[in-house]
Amino acid sequence: MASVSYPYQAPVSQSLFDRAAVVTPGGVNSPVRAFGAVGGTPRFMVSGSGPYLTDADGREYVDLVCSWGPMILGHRNPAVQEAVEAAVARGTSFGTPGEGEVELAEEIVSRVAPVEQVRLVSSGTEATMSAIRLARGFTGRAKVVKFAGCYHGHVDALLAAAGSGVATFALPDTPGVTGAQAGETLVLPYNDLDAVREAFVAHPGQIACVITEASPGNMGVVPPHEGFNAGLKALCEEHGALFVSDEVMTGFRVSKAGWFGLDGVVPDLMTFGKVMGGGFPAAAFGGRADVMAALAPAGPVYQAGTLSGNPVATAAGVAQLRQLDDAAYARLDATAATLRGLVTEALTTEGVAHTVQRAGSMFSVFFTDRPVTDYAGARTQDAFRFTAFFHAMLAAGVYLPPSAFESWFVSTAHDDAAVERVAAALPAAARAAAEAVPA
Ligand code: PLP
Repeated sequence: MASVSYPYQAPVSQSLFDRAAVVTPGGVNSPVRAFGAVGGTPRFMVSGSGPYLTDADGREYVDLVCSWGPMILGHRNPAVQEAVEAAVARGTSFGTPGEGEVELAEEIVSRVAPVEQVRLVSSGTEATMSAIRLARGFTGRAKVVKFAGCYHGHVDALLAAAGSGVATFALPDTPGVTGAQAGETLVLPYNDLDAVREAFVAHPGQIACVITEASPGNMGVVPPHEGFNAGLKALCEEHGALFVSDEVMTGFRVSKAGWFGLDGVVPDLMTFGKVMGGGFPAAAFGGRADVMAALAPAGPVYQAGTLSGNPVATAAGVAQLRQLDDAAYARLDATAATLRGLVTEALTTEGVAHTVQRAGSMFSVFFTDRPVTDYAGARTQDAFRFTAFFHAMLAAGVYLPPSAFESWFVSTAHDDAAVERVAAALPAAARAAAEAVPA
């Protein structure tokens, strides 16, 4: 990071960060927010409006993070605000069933055909954790297959990195996760069906489920090869395991029915979060009715939550989803295509090796000219160029994800004016990327 200059200081954000660091580990409540990968002062945001965020120093940014996905209609969408205000006026939590939960569940079931029943929870992590437990409870098996570079939240069993070689047992990725917790997890290379085939052969009758991001966005955007998800589904079926598709990021973002709406592969279980909560903590898992019937109180697999189906969160989610029609997705796709074109043009002009990869309206820039198909490939990029690019964009008022391994997100509120601001920022950022040298 030595080559990076920070053209704009952010003194108010810095003083808030200093205060935060005293009372909160690392000064943040989710690690990526600390700018650890890019350096500099994390911006403390005080308000949002449409496609813009304003920080504590009074600077405005075009927001290409969108709260890591949820703000698909932009900030302070009028119908979502109205629904939330009306819900708050009625009371904020009852700990009983409520109509809002039924409405949100009906909205999900009506959009995503493989979801016959759905259970609401409060975070994507809870959704994947519960789906894994249900898969194990339903099949009576212990092992779980996941892919290197796929993130499913901070579930102990899923915080496991790739071991060397196919089907080696994973080592825990973080202190605090025991060998026993990670020991039933097999981590395989993404987009490698042979590895999955071999794992089923090596562990006959032991694999409860294969979990995958429907189209990964957590190693940058790395879409599945044609036929990969269908191959996973077929192998799961053949070996009596469940196919769990994690749509926490792609769900209701890349189409009305998420990634399922684009590739049509029918999972046994699916997980959702982000967009479905309208900016509030709401998430879900759902799927085949016979599998979901194993969940308490209908069945024996326990799962619960004090704030599950919270009335304010469900009101926000319903108000958001009801606005996401075909026209909204066409607009998201068009905006993302324009931005991808602008990024490519700017980096090409400066001779910077890069690959822009997309999954629907999600996209990210890899600083390598080789297509990226798995986590190992993603890590070969010149990430130091992203650092320079990021800070130049930030200085010009464009807020990108502070890591080269994250998807960029657009909203329906990103209009011509917002896109023009991004376009104006790109040439200098591309130059900074071209001039960057490794730290
Ligand atoms: N699954 C995927 C694909 C995600 O992208 C994330 C979060 O980024 C999660 C699960 C975890 O969701 P949460 O952060 O709401 O716990």
